[in-house]
Amino acid sequence: MPVFRNFIAGQWVDAIDGQTFDNVNPADTTDIIGRFPLSGAQDVDRAVQSAQRGFDVWRATPAPLRGDVMRRAGDLLAARKEEIANLMTREMGKPLAETRGDVQEGIDTAYYAATEGRRLFGHTVPSELRSKWAMSFRRPIGVAGIITPFNFPLAIPTWKMFPALVCGNACVFKPAEDVPHTGTVFVEILLEAGLPPEVIQLVHGRGEMAGAAIVSHPGIPIVSFTGSTETGSFVGETCGRMHKRLSLEMGGKNAQVVLDDADLELALDGVLWGAFGTTGQRCTATSRLILQDGIHDEFVARLSDRARALRLGDGRREGTDVGPLVHESALKKVEAYVEIGRSEGATLALGGTRATGAGLERGHFFQPTIFTGVRPGSRLEQEEIFGPVLSVIRVGSADEAFRVNNDVRYGLSSSVYTRSVQVAFRALQDLDNGITYINAPTIGAEAHLPFGGVKQTGNGHREGGWEVYEFYSETKVGYVDYSGVLQRAQLDTYTTG
Ligand code: NAD
Repeated sequence: MPVFRNFIAGQWVDAIDGQTFDNVNPADTTDIIGRFPLSGAQDVDRAVQSAQRGFDVWRATPAPLRGDVMRRAGDLLAARKEEIANLMTREMGKPLAETRGDVQEGIDTAYYAATEGRRLFGHTVPSELRSKWAMSFRRPIGVAGIITPFNFPLAIPTWKMFPALVCGNACVFKPAEDVPHTGTVFVEILLEAGLPPEVIQLVHGRGEMAGAAIVSHPGIPIVSFTGSTETGSFVGETCGRMHKRLSLEMGGKNAQVVLDDADLELALDGVLWGAFGTTGQRCTATSRLILQDGIHDEFVARLSDRARALRLGDGRREGTDVGPLVHESALKKVEAYVEIGRSEGATLALGGTRATGAGLERGHFFQPTIFTGVRPGSRLEQEEIFGPVLSVIRVGSADEAFRVNNDVRYGLSSSVYTRSVQVAFRALQDLDNGITYINAPTIGAEAHLPFGGVKQTGNGHREGGWEVYEFYSETKVGYVDYSGVLQRAQLDTYTTG
């Protein structure tokens, strides 16, 4: 079986205590992809010490040259796109069309980051005193702890690490334990692109061990985490106590609203992709479908027909629409929510059980599932399931739809299908989400725009676009007084002559 290693202090190494874990294909659990180090606090400590040395080298490298490394990384990702998509599908299950998109997101992020190395703007503003300059500029922060989830194994690490690196930080990276292979290839590519070896450290392992050791390490002043809201609470507690800069991107319970005046065919395409793409395992997945009375029954009937026809299977097989869930406990969680839905009185309109049949015997497959008559406020309607389960809620008006959309603890994305310009703009203003799509599904972020959510989805930061560069750099202000006399700001009175 292939054996993979951590990348620490410029070397590919085993975990210090020699422990390992196996990476398993969720579409066929007899297919073991490889053996990876199960790292702990000692491995993280070595990684941080090395990253501090890397930081000293990297912070002194001009930002445009740092950007050039990202551009080369983008070129290498493009050259290896098909290979990476294949290995990503093998380790986490989503179909090839989606893993190709995941790699493309990384490529786009690389090219955006490359140009950002030539911007990283500060401000120069007039001083209130004579013969004095006042300006702000950006400084790197130090060693960044990067903790990522399984569902976008390449895109999310690139969202974090390209901007962190362009800003001049070093990174200690722990990919989710379900997708260590993609994480390893990404680090290989960064090194091949010319990143000085100690600037990047790769530490594989479980969240409670390696992840927690990163979060609590005093040598890591900045942490970027994407994962569940529950894990994010632990991360936030530690970072708050230790006064670390922290970006949290967490769970969602996203809704697609379809109003009576909508283009129903378009809305059907949108919800099928939003709810069942990536087997519902996206932070932006459509987990709730809010339908206005006038189109409710017809829409549910057409949707059920289309969802029933989706083809489940190995994502590397031509024609597969929906892959497996990532592991057994994800499957059990989905089963538990089907029971919760039943016990809360919702009507099971489609699916509801594990999927069986040729080619599905050895994977974590679950049927696309639709509940109707879901009550606002019920657990099925409120809690993140992270699987192919769609809850349909009936409403009488756009106002009621917007209230239902907003009445959850999460606030990542939302979508409204309508032909009314007035309603569309009202949705943009009034929906409590970081992203609202009009006449498009709840998924579809673009690399050059800020990405993130409000309420318990995030803590106010954004990934993607220009805003993330503010997170990974510290603003410093410089004043240069060339008057040759002591001038006291605030105390000296203004004169115009
Ligand atoms: P998870 O919270 O189980 O794990 C995420 C990462 O955190 C993994 O690398 C894991 O090893 C690590 N981790 C776990 N416990 C830890 C701890 N105590 N300390 C430090 N690190 C720890 O999430 P997951 O199952 O991999 O991903 C699914 C979740 O991620 C969903 O809730 C989804 O909505 C969310 N997500 C959010 C976004 C976003 O941008 N908002 C994007 C993708 C996924």
